[in-house]
Amino acid sequence: MLEITVNLHMHTPYSDGHGSHKHLADAALKTGLDAIIVTDHNVWVNGPEGYYQEGSQRVLMLVGEEVHDQARDPQKNHLLVIGADRELATLANNPQTLLDGVAEAGGLSFLAHPIDPENKVFKEVDLSWESWDVHGFTGIELWNSLTELKTRLKSKLHAAFYAYNPQYVALGPLPETISIWDDLLKNGKKVVAIGGSDAHALPGRMGPLTRTIFPYEFHFRCINTHLLIPEPLNGNLEHDKTLIYEALRAGHAFIGYDLPAPTRGFRFSAHAREASVSMGDEVKIREGQGVTFQIRLPQVAECILLKDGKPVKTWDNRETITYNTTEPGVFRVEVYIEYLRERRGWIFSNPIYVRG
Ligand SMILES: [Zn+2]
Ligand SMILES: [Zn+2]
Repeated sequence: MLEITVNLHMHTPYSDGHGSHKHLADAALKTGLDAIIVTDHNVWVNGPEGYYQEGSQRVLMLVGEEVHDQARDPQKNHLLVIGADRELATLANNPQTLLDGVAEAGGLSFLAHPIDPENKVFKEVDLSWESWDVHGFTGIELWNSLTELKTRLKSKLHAAFYAYNPQYVALGPLPETISIWDDLLKNGKKVVAIGGSDAHALPGRMGPLTRTIFPYEFHFRCINTHLLIPEPLNGNLEHDKTLIYEALRAGHAFIGYDLPAPTRGFRFSAHAREASVSMGDEVKIREGQGVTFQIRLPQVAECILLKDGKPVKTWDNRETITYNTTEPGVFRVEVYIEYLRERRGWIFSNPIYVRG
């Protein structure tokens, strides 16, 4: 399997973002991403999709949308729709109808910022997902940069500090979001986790100073979704798009916070007698036999293996790990790294489903 790095969930002036598609492509080229996925609010922008090039560098831009019911108050239930390749915002008034429409169009659906608490200081309302009775979604946005920032701004002073020092913000997905994910997994659902920027490149103003809050280029160096694909991208839009969407659909992916250190090279796999599988896959335990997990870290860090949401074992000073189990369950990996004097989330794997 080959690895590519994708940044997703970002806005342009077609909704409330401040940089054009070309601007996004330029920022992505500077950061060496393989692909970006643009998701404006309630509009599928047909046209900018394709490869953008600068010298020998190229980046693939794909376009989905972030759909929610604009008549709803508050405007909760944001859904990232990817790969449907048609306008679906017309179905926004019923989350289940929307999800069914996405599935029918062959697209992928991710509940955006499932927990997104209000911020009283900045009068930002709660935009969490609320309609939990729905079914048929591909996954959830486990780690959303903007939501995390929203939870960190306890005063105007915090905002001024983080505007100039954005590298201090990210610590990890919200614990409440992780526990919702674990609950869904425990109930037997397959739920793919992705990381999103929710990039807007908002102009911030503090007295005489104006500054772009969280420029796209900064986002692109932070929370990325790394995908494992069976063959290389070849520059053909349809071919490459299919590889990316199928990896997302299968959960052959991990979330990497690439600012402290590159997360490229992380692997989590499971090996049984008949089969070897990767993140997102299922493996069956046979009577009297076990499954061996292999974990590879890009560098030494704190690595936790979890089963059904509970830590099974922690390793502090290893780059390669093997672990045997004979018990069925949903296994996933979290990796933490020390950066700017804090313990920060670095890698969140998709689960391997060990079935009895
Ligand atoms: Zn949103
Ligand atoms: Zn958004």
